[in-house]
Amino acid sequence: TQAMNNTHAVIVGLGKTGLSCARYFHARGRPFKVIDSRFSPPSLAEFETEFPGQQIELGGFSQQSLLQAGEIVLSPGISLQTPEIAHAISQGVPVTGDIDIFSREVTAPVIAVTGSNGKSTVVTLVAEMARQMGIRVAVGGNLDGRASMPALDLLHSGERDLYVLELSSFQLETTSSLNAEIAVILNLSEDHLDRYASMQDYAAAKQRIYKGARQVLINRNDPASEPWETAAGQHWSYGFDQAAGDHDYGLSLKDGDSWLMRGSNHLMKVRELALVGRHNVSNALAALALGHAVGIPDAAMVTTLREFSGLPHRCQLLRNLRGVDYFNDSKGTNVGATLVAIESVAERTRGELILIAGGIGKDADFSPLLPALEQYVKRVVLIGRDADKLARLIGSRADIMRATSMEEAVAEAASSALSGDAVLLSPACASFDMFKDFAHRGRVFAAAVEALT
Ligand code: ADP
Repeated sequence: TQAMNNTHAVIVGLGKTGLSCARYFHARGRPFKVIDSRFSPPSLAEFETEFPGQQIELGGFSQQSLLQAGEIVLSPGISLQTPEIAHAISQGVPVTGDIDIFSREVTAPVIAVTGSNGKSTVVTLVAEMARQMGIRVAVGGNLDGRASMPALDLLHSGERDLYVLELSSFQLETTSSLNAEIAVILNLSEDHLDRYASMQDYAAAKQRIYKGARQVLINRNDPASEPWETAAGQHWSYGFDQAAGDHDYGLSLKDGDSWLMRGSNHLMKVRELALVGRHNVSNALAALALGHAVGIPDAAMVTTLREFSGLPHRCQLLRNLRGVDYFNDSKGTNVGATLVAIESVAERTRGELILIAGGIGKDADFSPLLPALEQYVKRVVLIGRDADKLARLIGSRADIMRATSMEEAVAEAASSALSGDAVLLSPACASFDMFKDFAHRGRVFAAAVEALT
């Protein structure tokens, strides 16, 4: 904050987040400049309309601009290790991000959620629970979809009683003190190892979510969710085992039914959940704990959990054609997500699975998929840039086919499926080699499935 009032901020990256930062500085009358290495960054047109004549540098990161910045405001898409950025930091230029600025400004409580998988589901559940109670809630951060907004835009979106933020490790890298009411790392599995030197670095970025949190939620089934530094305040936990105390959520059997529990309180039966799959039982427990920690009554939360059947592109059942179920899990962009997708689809499938996978593998180790492939998947249809890498790994554990387009992949999958089988798109990879994003990939898949006759 020191030099910021008399020097300009340099916003690095002009996507949705960069644009929200520009709006923030503009609204406060603080000088800023935007720079982007691309010549036509995603939010350029909106920026030029909203801020005619505003300074912007495109086509490179000028070292000089960065060194002259009072503060660098880094977009989550750009790594701190980018040479020009790293150099400016080494010369003492302070660096921040939209979430850091947001947390300095926000006055209502914030629920902060990160993790490798389940973030959007948990965030959406908690927000629905709050809405059930008439709480004025804003949801945002990294969440995709039309309703989602960068955190700083949320500040201007009307009066709010509660904010629920989904935070990626990239956003957390530039967050020095979030001061959430309650924060959670849901889980950690390999992802983004193209951007992080190691799992340790990835985990360290996620850990920043706990900074300044008044309450902390921990997943007992994933040690990576434990805070590295001892955190003050109330600690809550959740897991598939029994809930030990009043601040723990877990599962317990009663009269042949498995129940979601807080301590010794029976909250609801697992089979009353509208969401399917074991991973979603875990997500439901996390949502119950987060909601309770900010005072949402159990009854409202249980109502939401009975009704909410999931977001699009997450193990979404699209169609049954000639006895074959077609599932869209385009959001399965890493090994951990694809593993749970295979397991939860297999759980509800009589026959075998045909998996469509591939794309940009982000240097992940795919080997954790092998046992599930061997057990449930009869054929893998590979697409995308890292198809060869996946093929080498799978070897003879499943039958492999190649496709050059999603339409071809769906046709291959459909022709290998027998009644009782399921076709699952869960790529374990990013989509940018063939699609705009995972939602685009999911829509192309859905259209191809729809066109099957
Ligand atoms: P995120 O926002 O973290 O990407 P989503 O809620 O969108 O997570 O779910 C993405 C995919 O991750 C789902 O389709 C599912 O396959 C998998 N998934 C969801 N929740 C979990 C969980 N708790 N543990 C492991 N995998 C999960």
